[in-house]
Amino acid sequence: MSHVFHRHLSHAYPTAVGGDGAYLIDAEGRRYLDACGGAAVSCLGHSDAEVIEAVREQVGQLAYAHSAFFTTEPMEALADFLIERAPEGLSSVYFVSGGSEAVEAALKLARQYVIERGEPERRHLIARRQSYHGNTLGALATGGNAWRRRQFEPLLVEVSHVSPCYAYRGQAEGETPEAYGERLARELEDEIQRLGSETVMAFVAEPVVGATLGAVPAVPGYFRRVREICDRHGILLILDEVMCGMGRTGSLFAAEQEGVAPDLVTIAKGLGAGYQPIGATLVSERIRSAIAEGSGFFQHGHTYIGHATACAAALAAQRAIESRDLLPRVRQLGDGLQRRLEARFGDHPRVGDIRGRGLFRGLELVADRETRAPFDPERQLHAAIKRTAMDHGLMCYPMGGTLDGRRGDHILLAPPFILEDGQLDEIVDKLDATLRSVLG
Ligand code: PMP
Repeated sequence: MSHVFHRHLSHAYPTAVGGDGAYLIDAEGRRYLDACGGAAVSCLGHSDAEVIEAVREQVGQLAYAHSAFFTTEPMEALADFLIERAPEGLSSVYFVSGGSEAVEAALKLARQYVIERGEPERRHLIARRQSYHGNTLGALATGGNAWRRRQFEPLLVEVSHVSPCYAYRGQAEGETPEAYGERLARELEDEIQRLGSETVMAFVAEPVVGATLGAVPAVPGYFRRVREICDRHGILLILDEVMCGMGRTGSLFAAEQEGVAPDLVTIAKGLGAGYQPIGATLVSERIRSAIAEGSGFFQHGHTYIGHATACAAALAAQRAIESRDLLPRVRQLGDGLQRRLEARFGDHPRVGDIRGRGLFRGLELVADRETRAPFDPERQLHAAIKRTAMDHGLMCYPMGGTLDGRRGDHILLAPPFILEDGQLDEIVDKLDATLRSVLG
């Protein structure tokens, strides 16, 4: 019997023993094309020689030095690399070990900032329904996935949730994207007024919604309106790019495509490309300086902050993406994937929407294309899609839920940036075979 905790709670999975480019290989020698990067993590595939060598070298030289005693070269270099390329206004990096930790750090940085400024009454967070920000308590409270939160309520942090920007289900018939964005902006404004604008600390959102809705970008102008509203009321804007950041949508930061300067940005997943666990919170100069000139100390910390090997892996991965000019390739492959998905599934009776940016694409499954009635309320097929895809040698990420976050009704695709064109066809062929087996 396995002594791994989660193995007692889930299906029998094959044992992964190796990787070869975009493929994972199990103990029986079967190959699985990784069309979701695990969960949008493995952006360089599973056998990147440069990153592997960088990890080896760093472990050999210095694996780890506690951040309360030392800084390290890879941590300094990675912070420089990120800030040189980050949206305007961000000036420092707080390193952690994953996405939830990055969100927790962002929430506590926001809280400490308002306290340092003498505004302790700013304690409310506003986030969006059908979002995912992680599973630790603060991040869980922030996320708008009712099903994930329910059994742990009441949560320690009170958060109010407004509508996501989700055109497929939110935009009314005959309404323009601009009018829809404006309607959502008014909803945010109303919520701020309801709470009392002087009590709101921050607004948190994923620029492109990942795990809960399946690669849903906002309508043009939405985030600029959100930024204006936040500025008008002295509210911080936290963008969670844990899933959609680090090149996944075709630009290093997804915020670049929205033309907004966030106060805090969280990243993880693609940052270390899966070669090491790492996350980070990017901090704006106004927050950094308020804390530096105030108490001078951020009341937070983890043992593995700036882990030298993790930073070396992330630096090698990010340098590889840049030196191999992979971001234009992400945009090109992403367009190719969208075209192929539309060609194959555009008329599929159970595929309601195909969307996304770069190599971050989602198919929304429906019971009926015309009425957009939600797919599979009993959630029988969700697990079957994943299992059947694995039987066909494909990893895809069937997740999310349009209603309460539980009913899996989309398939997220987030393949490595190193794909060859033929592998786009392989993804679509295997997905097609999977949907034929499961849906008939
Ligand atoms: N934020 C977002 C947007 C995410 O997609 C995730 C993970 N799916 C997290 C936070 C949490 O990251 P982790 O699982 O690394 O804690």
